[in-house]
Amino acid sequence: MRMSKLTDQLSGSVIREMYNEALKMDDTISFTVGEPDFVTPAPIIEQACLYWKKGLTHYTPNVGILELREAISQYHKNDLAPNPDNEIMISCGATEGIQMALFTLVDPGDEVIVVTPAWPNYFGQIGMCGARCKVVEAREENNFIPDPDEIQAAISPKTKAIILNSPSNPTGAVIDADSCKRIAAILADRDIFVISDEIYSRLVYDEEKYTSLASFEALKEKTVYINGFSKMFAMTGWRLGYAIAPPAIIKNMTKLHENGASCLPAPSQIAAAYGLLHCQDEIERMKASYQARRDLICGLLDTVPGVSIRKPKGAFYAFVNAKELTHAAGMTSRELCMDLLQKTGVVTVPGSGFGACGEGYIRMTYATSEENITHGVERIREYARRF
Ligand code: PMP
Repeated sequence: MRMSKLTDQLSGSVIREMYNEALKMDDTISFTVGEPDFVTPAPIIEQACLYWKKGLTHYTPNVGILELREAISQYHKNDLAPNPDNEIMISCGATEGIQMALFTLVDPGDEVIVVTPAWPNYFGQIGMCGARCKVVEAREENNFIPDPDEIQAAISPKTKAIILNSPSNPTGAVIDADSCKRIAAILADRDIFVISDEIYSRLVYDEEKYTSLASFEALKEKTVYINGFSKMFAMTGWRLGYAIAPPAIIKNMTKLHENGASCLPAPSQIAAAYGLLHCQDEIERMKASYQARRDLICGLLDTVPGVSIRKPKGAFYAFVNAKELTHAAGMTSRELCMDLLQKTGVVTVPGSGFGACGEGYIRMTYATSEENITHGVERIREYARRF
């Protein structure tokens, strides 16, 4: 008997492929899965435990508990100022929020513009809607910031939405204010929805100024802002995200959520609200640590033959240009990452998994210990010397 064409065609991400491959080996040093290496701040965990023990073990409203929606509204009071009653939905991670947004905005056959290199789930999620992915490639010489003119050129009568992600996974690019303004001007007069994935918005380094694409008045009526607690508070395992959008969009996203994940646990939501209102310092503490590790990995990678890295301005990924190395080795980036794993135990992700223009790059998550970074890059240096 045949299963659905949809699932037959859906492929897993290359990140998980590398992760699973590494599980078969001993003595690995992993730079794969994009998650903070911190445990969630203790006060947040304590809040959750308190409410589990109080017996808050039942279903909750589909849209999310009011306490958390109010905390989100308060957190965004100086930018998006969403109404907690009808402009916020709590999702099962930002992942589900993006999927619900796509299902709400896009029909089969529509086109969705994606800037690559991009988080691979976008490709799968767009495919699940039966829509087509229209790629705009961001280039290293432009610090992986998409060229607004190229976004404009990618628009066709079928374009229904665009996904933008700043700071970016995998490149760490932060779209500057001027480019944001130009992109907003292009989208303002067109019937194109904007999904602005800002999950790394709190991880912007140095003096770089962060501009939220959702903050443009001209886009307000058609933008779904996506964020979550995974990166902000090292809460990846809690599966909590949120979307901010106009009431009609939130209403339809919530209908979908009701029929899918349904609702999220009350204690987790209360704890996340507590984090937003009381644990801002914790975010800054973790950010300072990522920034130090970014500087460490970039400094060390500079000494590896055949690779180069532009210092990423946000998130916690180094998107390493390994074109010289792949060329010298006569391998694709996927083959190189596999070979590197087999020979050295260092687990990285081939850039090609983030879109065709990622070929020749490898992604390394630096949300790992300084010891791992030092030893891991040392092994890569030894490996690179062979070529
Ligand atoms: N967007 C981007 C760009 C990501 O990198 C991730 C996680 N790796 C997510 C969304 C999803 O995050 P979560 O579902 O854990 O909130």
